[in-house]
Amino acid sequence: MIPRKEIHHILEGYAKEEITIATIGSHTALQILKGARDEGFKNIVICKKGTEEVYQQFGLADELLTVENFKQVLEKEFQEQLIERNVILIPHGSFVEYISPVRIENEMFVPMFGNRAVLDWESDRKKEREWLDRAELRLPMEFKDPADIDRLVMVKFPGAKGGKGYILASNPDEFEEKHKKLNLSDKEEFTLQEYVIGTRFYPHYFYSPLTDRVELLSMDIRYESNVDGISRLSYILQDSHPEPSFVVTGNLPVVVRESLLPRILEMGQNVIKTSRELFSPGLIGPFCIETICTENLEFIAFEISARIVAGTNLYINGSPYSQLLYQEPMSTGRRISREIKEALREDSLDRVIC
Ligand code: AMP
Repeated sequence: MIPRKEIHHILEGYAKEEITIATIGSHTALQILKGARDEGFKNIVICKKGTEEVYQQFGLADELLTVENFKQVLEKEFQEQLIERNVILIPHGSFVEYISPVRIENEMFVPMFGNRAVLDWESDRKKEREWLDRAELRLPMEFKDPADIDRLVMVKFPGAKGGKGYILASNPDEFEEKHKKLNLSDKEEFTLQEYVIGTRFYPHYFYSPLTDRVELLSMDIRYESNVDGISRLSYILQDSHPEPSFVVTGNLPVVVRESLLPRILEMGQNVIKTSRELFSPGLIGPFCIETICTENLEFIAFEISARIVAGTNLYINGSPYSQLLYQEPMSTGRRISREIKEALREDSLDRVIC
């Protein structure tokens, strides 16, 4: 991992009045670009060749850099170009996935919003579970051995993040049959996780180290293919339905029953407190806990995304929650730039970039 002090050294060389916000063109880039502009920053979008049109059409970027492949962002000359422009990069889901968490940690010198140590805790399922468990979140049961399966489980493969390629099984035989069809090597790891029945909520939080406050900015439900399509035809498909897949194709807005808000806030605060103990100074900025609320009104958390998530795109003009916190439209993208602006004002950029 690139030592923190090297990143801070680069940051010290920046012209503070010329700070530029940049991200790669995908996921939540439009929101991040607009947020930067709303907060008075210059901005740059790094596009993969062929996708420039989207970013040109919305006219939200001051500069557009084109690459053949997103991994090109790691090239020394490219990074130097960004550093010359006093760039702070904003990581998002696609940014992490296309460039790879390990390569970001080891090769990305350009200052990036947040704590890069979080990448390691988020991308490793075992570490992620330890983090959430220590934060006293309720987690789905996990089975070590397929022979122990005694209820509906979701079989999660590491490469299948994003819900594609997961399989469901209710007993050891069903697992064996479906697993064999996948033709995987014996070494292919997987997690057997209890399939929790309930309603999904994906609350979007923001933690500010400057104010030491966890803010609930918005919430969504992921719209997933083909599982959300199967349910529309369940009475026709019955026994012949295809294996459900859980590929996110969109997002739906949601608010939670008000009496559940205290627990939602508590979960966010616990996650932050534990992150400080596990990887100091802990998680900084946006994060989302992926939960299912059971009929007993208990939240079961099955994953955490330690950065801006795509569900926040619903709320570029603010959400029912952000409107209670801010008297102006406050998207998560804008909130990131607001934090950078406040840190600049207090001469403490190193508290939000580490
Ligand atoms: P993930 O890749 O862990 O974000 O999961 C993709 C999707 O699968 C989620 O958005 C949920 O719809 C569903 N899912 C994941 N884990 C569980 C679980 N333990 N119980 C029920 N549904 C789940």
